[in-house]
Amino acid sequence: MTDKSQRLQELKESLAHAQPATLAIRDAIARSQHDEHSEALYLTSSYVFASASEAAARFAGDVPGNVYSRYTNPTVQQFEQRLAAMEAGEAACATSSGMAAILSTAMAFLKAGDHMICSQAVFGATIALFDKYLKKFAIDITYVPQTDLEAWQAAVKPNTKLLYCESPSNPLAEVADIAALSKIAKQAGARLVVDNCFCTPILQRPLTLGADLVIHSATKYIDGQGRCLGGAVVGSQEDINELVGVVRTCGPTLSAFNAWVLLKGLETLALRMAVHCRQAEQLARWLQQQPQVAKVYYCGLEEHPSYSLAKQQQPGGFGGVLAFEVKGGQQQAWQVIDATRLLSITANLGDAKTTITHPATTTHGRLSPEQRQAAGISDALIRISVGLEDIKDLQADLARALASIA
Ligand SMILES: *Cc1c(COP(=O)(O)O)cnc(C)c1O
Repeated sequence: MTDKSQRLQELKESLAHAQPATLAIRDAIARSQHDEHSEALYLTSSYVFASASEAAARFAGDVPGNVYSRYTNPTVQQFEQRLAAMEAGEAACATSSGMAAILSTAMAFLKAGDHMICSQAVFGATIALFDKYLKKFAIDITYVPQTDLEAWQAAVKPNTKLLYCESPSNPLAEVADIAALSKIAKQAGARLVVDNCFCTPILQRPLTLGADLVIHSATKYIDGQGRCLGGAVVGSQEDINELVGVVRTCGPTLSAFNAWVLLKGLETLALRMAVHCRQAEQLARWLQQQPQVAKVYYCGLEEHPSYSLAKQQQPGGFGGVLAFEVKGGQQQAWQVIDATRLLSITANLGDAKTTITHPATTTHGRLSPEQRQAAGISDALIRISVGLEDIKDLQADLARALASIA
């Protein structure tokens, strides 16, 4: 007979060299006295103390334990520990959304007078956050083309504190050379931050390539079924302590309920990513053969400029998002989108449901025409986040839609 704590200890030892897909299901088990198999959901805003002196000791941080769910919550902690293990990071800090993760990172590691370098090809709201809000606090930002390493190097200033990228980019799938950027960051005494939303740790682990911090919008593939918002930052224990300070004081805390949904989402992430990747590649190759399509953007296509880097940097796969230009302009793109019947017209991605969107007037609509042009977002461009429906049905729906502009 082995007792419970011995079994738990043996489980922990067996996970020391486990793969991300196993960690996603088995790591960070914190069973309660009820011995539940599925992870418990702790819906509580505060915690009780046995005495006034215990309350004082926990508030002072002299004894470990929960105080208030803006600080810590057992369900949120399970999600953080599991994601950190999958990313090969020491720790994680969960946030209420992906944007909250980005804002909290900026608050933790930048101050007035600092400079950051950011890829031109990051998520639209990220650029809006940096340009409209960070600049209010006297943060200087230089935008550079994602794949131009010389431009990153040339942009470094004595006060550069962060390098920020997202790889592959949305929606054109340009791949940032994470190892090379990490060298530039280290030389500059700055941190490299990588938004890993499109890959998840199943496809790519930026910390193992030299990145300092990984950002997630858990809203996308980690949930995977379009139910709730969430975010996280993963990195060293020291850096995450800084972030935890920001989050527990400023309040962009992940709700316990959302943490539970995301924790359960992690269990099926490897399985889902494999199908997203396989179907995206099949659809990309099929789209290339359609007469109404001018160009397909997917880093799993040999002719994509980022193909060989993607192959090496993303051992788990090329991702589930692709984009293509139709022959014509906005009118033809909108016509194709409107002629689909199965696909959802929505800007969300990473869902079991395949989604279709027109980046120039939605996700990238807040950018100026010049910024859009710099990011390569044309009016004829359509983005698809390939879901888990049968590929034959997706092709049939798109074939009908493309025929509408023939
Ligand atoms: C959606 C998204 C975000 C923002 O995440 P939210 O959860 O919507 O706040 C950040 N980065 C990327 C790449 C995204 O796709």
